Amino acid sequence: MNVADCLFCRIAGGEIPADVIYSDPEMVAFRDINPQAPTHVLIIPRKHIASVAALDSAEAGLMGRLFLVARDLAQEEGIAEDGYRMVVNAGPDGGQTVFHVHLHLLGGRALKWPPG
Ligand code: AMP
Ligand code: ZN
Repeated sequence: MNVADCLFCRIAGGEIPADVIYSDPEMVAFRDINPQAPTHVLIIPRKHIASVAALDSAEAGLMGRLFLVARDLAQEEGIAEDGYRMVVNAGPDGGQTVFHVHLHLLGGRALKWPPG
């Protein structure tokens, strides 16, 4: 897919509105449009990477930072004490629908395991 057509690239670029709660030169975080929990935030790198399946080893640090940003947002969202879940879906069986790497941060209720 062309980066210009990527929904999350366009959100990161400010072309498509979203409820952005965090932004820095490498990352953007915004609320999921179809929340599955009281807190449901998506954290993305600004760099277009289609999937974790397409990650390069040079992007290991970037992905590590993605988790640190999510951890800090869990604190800010007030869900750190009770707990939360971070999820990355990959490919059709994983339920990936947007092909720009994103980390789901879910919390604010007790989440079931295993997921459906
Ligand atoms: P995934 O299924 O893991 O690829 O997750 C994609 C997520 O993006 C879903 O949870 C959608 O609800 C969410 N989503 C789709 N479009 C938007 C949008 N315009 N703004 C915010 N979240 C979106
Ligand atoms: Zn993209």
